[in-house]
Amino acid sequence: MPRTLVTGGAGFLGSHLCEYLLKKGHQVIAMDNLLTGTIANIEHLQNENFKFIKHDVTEYIYIAGEIDYVLHFASPASPLDYLQLPIQTLKVGALGTHKALGLALSKKATFLIASTSEIYGDPLKHPQSEDYWGHVNPVGPRGVYDEAKRFAEALTMAYHRFHGVDAKIVRIFNTYGPRMRPNDGRAIPTFVPQALNNEAITVFGDGSQTRSFCYVSDLVEGIYRLLVSDINDPVNIGNPTEMTIKEMAETVIKVTDSQSKITYKPLPVDDPKVRQPDISKAKKLLGWEPTVSFEQGLTKTVEWFKTQNLR
Ligand code: UDP
Repeated sequence: MPRTLVTGGAGFLGSHLCEYLLKKGHQVIAMDNLLTGTIANIEHLQNENFKFIKHDVTEYIYIAGEIDYVLHFASPASPLDYLQLPIQTLKVGALGTHKALGLALSKKATFLIASTSEIYGDPLKHPQSEDYWGHVNPVGPRGVYDEAKRFAEALTMAYHRFHGVDAKIVRIFNTYGPRMRPNDGRAIPTFVPQALNNEAITVFGDGSQTRSFCYVSDLVEGIYRLLVSDINDPVNIGNPTEMTIKEMAETVIKVTDSQSKITYKPLPVDDPKVRQPDISKAKKLLGWEPTVSFEQGLTKTVEWFKTQNLR
């Protein structure tokens, strides 16, 4: 039975990964300092193969016994969080990645880091393929996340090349689904509660900026395939179906059957104008592509948000 550590295991993506790995027969240790994650995300996983450890991974990580896989998913992950937790965001991407890599090295475990499409910044190449180096403002408000993840990728490759750690880098594009923190500042967990409460939907800018949203079950499947592959350089995982944020808001209104109207707010600094993954590499090397349409995934997501206290 493989034994696996998921940092950020009580977060949105981390908790879905823990659940998937348990189903695949792993023994799973979720580690989280609960800064942006919550026990509610993992309560349903309590069983003999699952353990939760409350720990801040920027500090030394001690785990007794063997570990086969280390998945490093701890990080604040919304632009609002970066504004409120800039130092923690930098520390978990830099120091946390160092600790997680050190653990993987000492346990001879396979390592996988959650990187991000943010490493491409406000991209000048569209769609974004893995060979694009990006267009990032290091000193803007998003720089704390973007640069931490760029450093994390560099550190991961250094541990791979210098120490021989079997390391994987997944570049995650916008992902959504149940267990996103309501009103965390990201578009979907903001729009869905607004629509369910028949409140104005706050589109930033004129809503012409684009994103490509991947349902969480598709993402987790892609990550697992990368984890068990022999690939050591970055792979994009995301859904290439691109839409404007205005179109996305209109779909949310439709799916929730809401009376909400769109209201326009200023565009945040350095908000990328376009984003769409080129997933040729994942298709070719992992035989992976997303299967859940935006309306299907959004419907499931809305059902979950309806069970939450959204006030
Ligand atoms: N956005 C918006 N209204 C909101 C929250 C976000 O219009 O209340 C926009 C945001 O400016 C961005 C897009 O939706 O252009 C996606 O934002 P999100 O924070 O979900 O992801 P990211 O910007 O990191 O891709």
